Formats: sequence, structure tokens, C-alpha cells
Amino acid sequence: MSAVTTAAGDALDEGRTWHTTGTAAAYSGYHPTTLVRHLQSGELHGFQRKTKGRWRIHVDCLDAWLVGETCTHAAPTAKGRR
Ligand SMILES: [Zn+2]
Repeated sequence: MSAVTTAAGDALDEGRTWHTTGTAAAYSGYHPTTLVRHLQSGELHGFQRKTKGRWRIHVDCLDAWLVGETCTHAAPTAKGRR
């Protein structure tokens, strides 16, 4: 039996949904250090479990940032939301 190949079956796999700085760098063409700088400034939306931990960047966030947009779920802090 050969393995079944699905066109988009693994689209929601964690490895496809979330970038690390390494995969985000490969995907975007930016240097990982550059990405971390933008993550730390808040310009690029990312998540970090610990202050010095690994960054996780959702593919939607990276795609939005690459075209100069703010991703939909990165609510601006100035909006008065608490
Ligand atoms: Zn986001």
C-alpha cells in the first residue's frame, strides 16, 4: 500500500500553522535576527512563552506583516481594550 497523499490534509498541522523564527526567516527571506527585532518591537505579531523563549509566529501574522498589514487578531493597544 502506498501512502495516501492529500492535497491539503496537513494544512492545519502545527508545523504549517506556526512559524519559528527559523522557518519564518526561510519563508520570508528575512534574517532571523531581523525578525526577532520586529517581534520585540511589536511590529510583527508573535507569541513567546517566556521572555527569552522561542518565538512562535502564526502564518497569518507573518503573511500580513510581509504585505504591510496588521493581522486581524493583533488588536491595537490604543483601542481601549482591556
Ligand atoms: Zn496575529
